[in-house]
Amino acid sequence: MKASTLHLVTLRADPAHAEIASHRLMLRAGLIDQVASGIYSWLPLGLRVLRRVEEVVRQEMNAIGCTECLLPMVQPAELWQASGRWGAYGPELLRFTDRHQRGFCLGPTHEEIITDLARRTIKSRHQLPITLYQIQTKFRDEIRPRFGVMRAREFLMKDAYSFHDNPASLEKTYQDMAQAYQRIFERLGLAHRRVSADSGAIGGAVSHEFHILADSGEDVIVYDPDSSYAANLELAQARPGQAAAYQKPIVVAAMGCHGGPVALVLGSGDRLHPTKAGKLSQLAQPLHILQDEELQRLGMLSAPWHDQRWEAVIWDEGAAALAPASHIPHTADLRTVQQGDPSPVTGKPLQLARGIEVGHIFQLGSKYSAALGAMITDEKGQGHPMLMGCYGIGISRIVAAAIEQCHDARGIAWPKAMAPFQVAIAPLRTGNQSDEAVMSEAQSLHDHLEAQGISCLLDDRGLRPGVMFSDLELLGIPWRVVVSARLLEQHALEYQGRHEPNATVDTRHAVLQELLQHLA
Ligand code: ATP
Ligand code: MG
Repeated sequence: MKASTLHLVTLRADPAHAEIASHRLMLRAGLIDQVASGIYSWLPLGLRVLRRVEEVVRQEMNAIGCTECLLPMVQPAELWQASGRWGAYGPELLRFTDRHQRGFCLGPTHEEIITDLARRTIKSRHQLPITLYQIQTKFRDEIRPRFGVMRAREFLMKDAYSFHDNPASLEKTYQDMAQAYQRIFERLGLAHRRVSADSGAIGGAVSHEFHILADSGEDVIVYDPDSSYAANLELAQARPGQAAAYQKPIVVAAMGCHGGPVALVLGSGDRLHPTKAGKLSQLAQPLHILQDEELQRLGMLSAPWHDQRWEAVIWDEGAAALAPASHIPHTADLRTVQQGDPSPVTGKPLQLARGIEVGHIFQLGSKYSAALGAMITDEKGQGHPMLMGCYGIGISRIVAAAIEQCHDARGIAWPKAMAPFQVAIAPLRTGNQSDEAVMSEAQSLHDHLEAQGISCLLDDRGLRPGVMFSDLELLGIPWRVVVSARLLEQHALEYQGRHEPNATVDTRHAVLQELLQHLA
């Protein structure tokens, strides 16, 4: 493709409001254009990347026997009322009425629509199991859209939904899906980790998250290098260590559900994890940690755990060993796991890493099918709600997350599978007669590589070499080939990989061989 037809809009300087590398680089390389807060246009170059991610996801979904469909973005309120989420979803759900005063919302997810479809179209258990997926725009009125398409209001998601008549069948599809997700991230060339998002000790449905590893990630994930144990820090647990007897427990005070202070007791050096504390039924919602001034007012500043005035006293499971033998404490998992804590599986040191959540799979059970009446009949003629799984991947977030993982001071450095073009052809024109021969060689090279299935961007914008080269580095195309009159005289071309420090000059034949070897 010719650069002149691509509507490339690159920026020399960093946009002021972009806080993280991917947001800056997506704007500078002209992949996206902001329309409103959390709402973006995908420009031609960005769309090529988005489509490549989509295609890998689509192929891996099809490979495990899922079938593509397309559900509406506009969803009727009645279905959300039936599932109970019209009230429960909160302001992230953008609601509106049509000219007949009927309620609708823009779909933030599609469980209601798909379950409604299933209840009307799945008549017999012989139609099960079945998994449908779509790649579609979602709208969530996020309270704080930020980092460009990383946390947008309008974004592209692949969402799949499976239906089953028995738990083993759900488990099988769930495992197939988890493996398909691993293959997707492997094929995209991104360092990733699957973590348990299971609510662990508290019980609850089975769920896993997939994270792309990047220092700017919002989530901290904890993993055991010696086993498959990996969890979001919000849920991660360590094997309780032997609390040394000489240690003194520390007290964090939080507002109780009856309005009085509650003592949360941890080992010295431990930190409370707010999400874990947020789940305690003894505490006010949302979590309110009492500050020194508030405790001062209550006359409870520095009060020890055994003070009689606490509304309740809850010990962290690890610190509970510090409680006097005569005292049977209420316990819960409260502490933040730290680097080097013993793994709950092997006891070996746990590692911490930052990640960006790009996928989430979930065994829903009968939550939606029961609410909406998606039933099947067993051999005895007895009706049961179908079992369901749901499986999401943030297609547009993956593009941003990949840039977080793959960039340097000069710009984006796409992994091969995500690059908008594999090769950039840079003809150097001088305004002389030789320009014609240069452009004709560039075009012939372009056509030759394209015929071999290698996508090429022919930079015919007529930029000065320095400007063109830095632009192409910003775009992150894996290989660059330079054509010039001087090189043509030697029957040679110059090529350079995006990660290579220097360019190499070689014969046309050798350069083509090299590119084909890397890219075909
Ligand atoms: P988060 O905790 O980041 O808000 P979530 O738990 O709300 O994510 P899901 O409902 O599981 O996300 O959605 C599936 C996938 O969609 C996520 O794993 C993520 O990749 C993507 N996603 C969710 N919200 C956004 C958003 N606002 N912008 C871009 N992608 C998103
Ligand atoms: Mg969310």
